[in-house]
Amino acid sequence: MNLENIYFNTNKTPVISYEVFPPKNDIDGQKLNHLFSELKKLCIFKPSLISVTYGAGGSNQNQSLEIIKRIKDELLVNPMPHFTCVSTDEKNIKNYLESISKINVENILALRGDIPEDGNVCKDFEHASDLIKYIKQKTDLSIAAAGYPEGHREAVSFKKDIEYLKLKADFGTKVVYTQLFFNNVHYFNFVDECNKSGINIPIIPGILPVTNFKQLEKMATLCKVEIPAKMLEILEKHKDDSDYIEKYGIEFSIKQCDELVQKNVKGLHFYTLNKSNAVSQILSELM
Ligand code: FAD
Repeated sequence: MNLENIYFNTNKTPVISYEVFPPKNDIDGQKLNHLFSELKKLCIFKPSLISVTYGAGGSNQNQSLEIIKRIKDELLVNPMPHFTCVSTDEKNIKNYLESISKINVENILALRGDIPEDGNVCKDFEHASDLIKYIKQKTDLSIAAAGYPEGHREAVSFKKDIEYLKLKADFGTKVVYTQLFFNNVHYFNFVDECNKSGINIPIIPGILPVTNFKQLEKMATLCKVEIPAKMLEILEKHKDDSDYIEKYGIEFSIKQCDELVQKNVKGLHFYTLNKSNAVSQILSELM
């Protein structure tokens, strides 16, 4: 099913979707099997879509395609591969699009990707909007894009960032998935500003249940995301108590999602980090 149909949701319950990543150093396939056993547990919440991240420069392309096939064939859920263009030339992009169309994938999350540390980029497609325009011209794929409630970390300004998002929408993006955030005010403000700029497609909040303090600090710095002061204080105080951190993270996400659902968001997209426990507990509470 394509994104238009998934989010053309006439009942009021939000569409549930998950993000997973191809496990690293999975020599004997055990990590992949573990990922699928976690996803099976999450399937009881009837997700409409599972997205699979794409490694910088396509490092995990084969594994990523295998995961996509298994999501479709074993879990019977719509897969959505992510794809980044920053280090890839047109020929490779064309080949990749052909390989996903051969396995009847209908959706794609089109991204620029992070600029590699060595600065080695391919100039064929400089921004996600260039990639989106190309995919729209060459394929029937239904396209999603990334959005940043607190602004992208390289953005000249918040206003400019939204102007570029508008370009992505004008080139055929059907749905925006947001960067993780912890303060819903940023999301509501972002949606308002997008709507004022004429972006009228679903903007789906990306939710990260916190399960590890160090990982959170790293992600928040990398993604330029505010950790609310009270949350930071509590997490710092209990940083060595992993059970406490996970419990707090789950409770925090329940409240965060509850508020989003009250405001009629069209969907909730969970950054699962390939684990089922936190997301399962959150969804059990919400549903
Ligand atoms: P762009 O939309 O190209 O934006 C990048 C920067 O350029 C922004 O600052 C923007 O303001 C500016 N800009 C945009 N268009 C223009 C233009 N036309 N002219 C001038 N400036 C412009 N990364 C991965 O490597 N793999 C993944 O699987 C992955 N999945 C993600 C999923 C989600 C939901 C999100 C939110 C992010 C994901 N990322 C992933 C991270 C993403 O690749 C980085 O945030 C990257 O730095 C920007 O990608 P983008 O598609 O938003 O780029």
